[in-house]
Amino acid sequence: MFKKLAEILFGKDNSHPSSDGFFLNVRCSECGDKFHLFIHKSWELSQNFEEDGSVTYFFKKMIFGVGCPNRIHVEMQFDSNKNLISRQIENGEFIED
Ligand SMILES: [Zn+2]
Repeated sequence: MFKKLAEILFGKDNSHPSSDGFFLNVRCSECGDKFHLFIHKSWELSQNFEEDGSVTYFFKKMIFGVGCPNRIHVEMQFDSNKNLISRQIENGEFIED
């Protein structure tokens, strides 16, 4: 019984774990703190209505740690399929994993 349950859980974890989102990994340029955030595409992206009627998406976030005066600003742009097309960061840097 336990074996079966483990298989079900494992199978679930294995099926497109990040299809609904992505990990945003950034480092503070002031203190070097690292932040690992999971961004859910389905409700954290904002819609942007283009003049031709299509919809693209964007994401903005301010990230800051405890006891650090720095504020990291992240902006990302996505196409109509929510694929990342460009991104910008201020006061920090993206960490590639
Ligand atoms: Zn910092």
